[in-house]
Amino acid sequence: MTIDLLVHAPHMYTMAGEGLGYRGGESVAVDAGKIIAVGPREELEAAYTAGRTVEGRHHVLLPGFVDCHMHSRHAVYRGVAQDITNWMWGGVAPFEAAGTPAARTAGSRLAMAEALMSGTTTVGDDGPDLEGAAETAAAFGLRANLSPRIREVDMGSYGPGELYRFYPQLGQASLDACLKLFDRFHGHDSGRIRVLFGPQGADFVSKDLMVKVCRMAREAGTRVHMHFSQGSREDEQIRLRYGMRPVAYLDSLGVIDENLIAVHLSSATPEEVALTARRGANMIFCPSSIAVIDGEVPPAKIFLDSGGTVGLGSDQSPGNNNHNMFNEMKLAAVLNKCRYGDPLLFPAWKVLRMATVEGARAIGLGDITGSIEPGKAADLILIDLRQPTLSPVITSPMRNIAANLVYAGRGHEVDTIMVAGKLLMEHRRPLTFDLDQVLDDVQREADALSERATPRFRETDSIIAAYMRNDQL
Ligand SMILES: [Zn+2]
Repeated sequence: MTIDLLVHAPHMYTMAGEGLGYRGGESVAVDAGKIIAVGPREELEAAYTAGRTVEGRHHVLLPGFVDCHMHSRHAVYRGVAQDITNWMWGGVAPFEAAGTPAARTAGSRLAMAEALMSGTTTVGDDGPDLEGAAETAAAFGLRANLSPRIREVDMGSYGPGELYRFYPQLGQASLDACLKLFDRFHGHDSGRIRVLFGPQGADFVSKDLMVKVCRMAREAGTRVHMHFSQGSREDEQIRLRYGMRPVAYLDSLGVIDENLIAVHLSSATPEEVALTARRGANMIFCPSSIAVIDGEVPPAKIFLDSGGTVGLGSDQSPGNNNHNMFNEMKLAAVLNKCRYGDPLLFPAWKVLRMATVEGARAIGLGDITGSIEPGKAADLILIDLRQPTLSPVITSPMRNIAANLVYAGRGHEVDTIMVAGKLLMEHRRPLTFDLDQVLDDVQREADALSERATPRFRETDSIIAAYMRNDQL
C-alpha cells in the first residue's frame, strides 16, 4: 500500500494508555494527515511504500505539545511586566492601550513562531481582535483553538468597592466579533482551526450574557474558554453584585460543566476547585505566568485529586516571558514539589502527559491530537537527543529520556515538526514562515508601539518606571 509518510526514530513516547507508552525502534505510518499505524520498523516498511521518509537517527518521537492557553498578541511587548505587584495597570496597560492591529499580528506571529520552534503543535489563543492570530495559525500550519473575548465592561479604571458598569452594546459587539470569527475560521482546513467562545470572566459579562454565550457555544458545537476564579478583583465584584463567591455564582447559572475550559482557578478554595472538577469542567494550569505575576501556584493538584483533567498553558510573555512548553513542564513539576514539600508530586511522566494527551483532552481535542495512535492527526515532533542538554541517553537499567526532557530540555532540541502530516519545521528550519521576516516585523512594531506607550508608561510611575529612571534595569 502506498502512503504519504513513514517516520522512524529509535525512541518514541506515544502517550497511549496510562503512562508514556514507550516504544523502542518503532515507526509511524501517516496517510492523508492521519496516523494509520504504529509498529516495528521492519513491519511497517514491509507493509507500506511511503512517498516520503522522515528519519530521526538519534531522536525521540513525541506527539506535539498542546499549549492550552496563551495571549499571543502580547508578545510584541514581551518582558515589560514582571517583578511588580500590579501587573495589569503598572505593566501591561500602557503597551496594550497603544496597540494596533499590525502590532498585535506581529506579536502573534512571534509567539507562534516561538511556540512552534519549541515543539508546540496546538495553540490555544485568547483575546480580542483575533483575526491576525487566526491568520497566523492558518498560515503557519498550527492547530489552533481560538477564543475571541466577549466582554461587557468598558476599559475605564474602577476604584476598590466600585462595581464595573455593563454596556450591553459592548457585549453585543464582542459577541458579534466572536461569531464573525467563528463563521470565518471554525473548521478551517479539515478542522485544524477551531473557534471557541471566550467570556472574559464572571465579572466582565452580565448574568444574561454569560448564560446566553454558554448556551450558544453548546448549540454551535464548540466550547467555552474562560479565565475562572482568577483573583481578588473578581471575588469582590461578584460578592458586591450577587453576594456570592464566583464559583457558587457560576454554578447557580449551570455553566460549570464539561463544555467549560476553566483557566487559572488561582483564587478558588479547595472546595470550589473540587466542585469545578466534579462538574466535569477542565482546568488549564499556567505555572510560570501565575508564579511570576502573582507569586502563587494554582491548585492543579487539588483539581487532579478531584478527578479533573488538567492541561498546561504559557499565558502571556509580558509577564512570564515565553511560549515554551519545556518551561511550563519544568515549572509545573518544580513548583508543586516545592509548594507541597513532596518530590513525588508531578513527576516528569505526568507533566509530559499534561503537555500532550491530557492538554488535548482538556481543550476538547482528545479525539484528534495529543497521542500517537492510529486515527489521530499526525501532529508529531522529533527531538534531537544528541544535544548537550539531553545527552547521554541511558536506556538500561532505566531510561533517562523523559526526565531529561522535562528537567533539562530547553526547546532548541526540537528538530522536526509536523501537523496533520504536513512538515512545518525540518532540522530547525521553519518551512511555513520566514523567521527573519517575523523578527524584523515585530522589532519595527515594538519600536513604534513603545514610542506610543511612553507618555502613559511615565504616568504610571510604577516600580518599573522608577527602576528605569535610575538605570537599574
Ligand atoms: Zn490568560
